Formats: sequence, C-alpha cells, structure tokens
Amino acid sequence: MPQKLPALTDFRRIVVKVGSSLLVDSPAGQPRADWLDALAEDIAALHRDKRDILVVSSGAIALGRSVLKLPRGALRLEESQAAAAVGQIALARLWAETLGRHGITAGQVLVTLGDTEERRRYLNARETIDKLLEWRSVPVINENDTVATNEIRYGDNDRLAARVATMVSADLLVLLSDVDGLYDAPPASGRTATLVPVVERITPEIAAMAGASGSELSRGGMMTKIEAARIATSAGTHMVIASGHRDHALMAIARGGPCTWFLTPANPVTARKKWIAGTLEPKGVLYIDSGAVAALRRGKSLLPAGVRRVDGEFARGDAVRIRDLDGEEIGRGLVAYDSGDAMQVIGRSTTDVKMILGFDGRSEIVHRDDLVISGSEER
Ligand code: GLU
Repeated sequence: MPQKLPALTDFRRIVVKVGSSLLVDSPAGQPRADWLDALAEDIAALHRDKRDILVVSSGAIALGRSVLKLPRGALRLEESQAAAAVGQIALARLWAETLGRHGITAGQVLVTLGDTEERRRYLNARETIDKLLEWRSVPVINENDTVATNEIRYGDNDRLAARVATMVSADLLVLLSDVDGLYDAPPASGRTATLVPVVERITPEIAAMAGASGSELSRGGMMTKIEAARIATSAGTHMVIASGHRDHALMAIARGGPCTWFLTPANPVTARKKWIAGTLEPKGVLYIDSGAVAALRRGKSLLPAGVRRVDGEFARGDAVRIRDLDGEEIGRGLVAYDSGDAMQVIGRSTTDVKMILGFDGRSEIVHRDDLVISGSEER
C-alpha cells in the first residue's frame, strides 16, 4: 500500500549533509557559489520557520587541493590532512559568508571520531552544539581532518553526519549528494535500475542494492550512505538521500522531487532514553530528596541541591541510578560531574558550584534530556 511520505516541515531539528562534489566544481576546484546560495536560501526558510538546522559540510580537502594547486589523482593521508588544513579555512569562510547573506550566523565545529564515540567528549560536543542552536546559529560541522589519523577517523561525512544527527537527537538527516537516492541495482551492474522511494527496514537486499560507488571528490558511495541510514534509523532519526545537483535542493525534496527516504520506527528522544535506561551499565547512585523526586517526575532536570548522597565511582557522562532516600529507584541518567566533583557539589545551590570547584560546572547534575524516569513510557 503506498504510504504517505514525511514532509520536511514535519521535522524540528534537521541535519543537512553536503558532499564535496556539490560544493566544489570539478576539475576547476572552485566553490559553486550560486548553488550554495540557493541552498542557503532553503536553509534560511526552514530556519525562519523555527527549525533547528545543522550543516555537515565536506569540501575541505577538495578546496585545499585547489588553493594549493595540487595535481589530480589520489592524495596520501598526510597530503589530504595538509590540504584540509588549507581548505577548511576557505570552507568555513564560504559558509559564514553565504549563510550570513541570509541573516544566519554560522558556527564552525570540527569533530573527530572520539568526540562522537567517547561519552565524556560526546557530552561536550553536544553541549556546544546545543548552545549554538539555542542562539539560533547554524553549526557547520566537518571532521577535523588535519588531526584525525587513519585508524581513528570517519573518513566519510555520511557516517559522521549520521552520528552527529543522533548525538543532537535530530529527527531528520538529509544527505545531499550526486545521486537521486538508492536504485534497486548498483550503477555498475548495467541493469536498468529504478529509484526506491522509501526503505522501511535495511535488509540484506537493500544493502546489496548499494554496490560500491563514489566519485573522485566524495569518499562516500552508496555503501556509506546505507551505513549512515543504519546509524540514523536505529537511533530514531529519519534519513533522506537526494541529489544536490539541482538548485534549491532542499525545496526540491519538500516539493516531492526524486529521493529515497529511510524511515525509523522510533523517535530520537525515545531511542536515546532507551539507550540510557537499558543499554548502559550504571556506574553509581545518586540519592535524592523528596523535593527533587517531585521535580523529576514533573519533567525537570536534577540539580545538585536535591542530591543528598553519592555512591560509587563514575566519570562525567557515565550512567547512574537515581534513588530516593528509601532506596527506591526513581530513574537513570547521564551524570554531568565525575564522582569526586559530584560529592563536593551535592546539597549546594548552583551558584555555589563555581566557588566550590573553581570552574563553572553545569547547572544540572543530570540534565532532563539525559534522564529516564522509571515506569515512564520511554522505558
Ligand atoms: N572531511 C572531508 C573534507 O572535508 C570529506 C569527507 C567526505 O567526502 O565525506 O574534505
């Protein structure tokens, strides 16, 4: 039965991944300024409509290559890292100027694999991005190619964008690349292939349709896009692949242009809370007073003032159990302080925290986005 596909306006937080081949002319190596301007107009329209927009932009290596006038052909790892060092400056400027013309402030965020995989660093990156969004900036994110070495890098921005999308609980990831979407046969197979409009589950057959492809400029072929879809959809983020080779690429999706939707059964907050409640092994316990229990049940964050006792040893970002003073489990959450600091700040007002620790800590000891209350539907 044909199913109603989502519309862009259904989403509140959207990550748009832009591939190198869209941003940079091949072989001239010049930025495609008019194309980018049209995309920025689409981004600005969604932004005005109160959507949170994040961009994951490739193009550092391609632009660096052109600024440095490097010969065509494959680059060695250290050459691409050095090219990225040059190109990232140009890329950031391009985005800042283009979005700026549409009244949007861009903020550059460079991340490595560790920043998205290691819990403590993950919280840092997420908080910075959250703050940018709160300030209505558009984060423009790329891998920090100059320091990411082979074993510890994504290497492709498809999977990076998927991890970023899940990290910020985005409800949609848009991959703009040089193909319309997923075809039911790989391009190299020679068979006539038709576009798959919607994928509800990534089965081995779907994965087989991807084959292996890619162009000189973009690292990710359809395989990495399927990988990205797996990451995104299992964390509650829908994904759509569409060709950026048309002006106003986002509006083209909104108008029902060719694309492939990968749907997720979950929603990002539920998926994340399931992960906190079910997957992570709690490392310690926070015992909280009845006022805090009531506040948590009303959907508030846990503040240091409401915590009476801390048990166990944990690091910032670890999962902890939250119990009332009778020992009954109230919920679980990711804690914003390590156990040593937590012991010092409990019972104190948020304004005292800086004085006690000597640095500005978080006002919440467990933020409500990182908190699951026992017995609530998210569990
Ligand atoms: N981070 C790389 C760059 O900016 C792009 C990786 C990719 O093409 O996916 O050049």
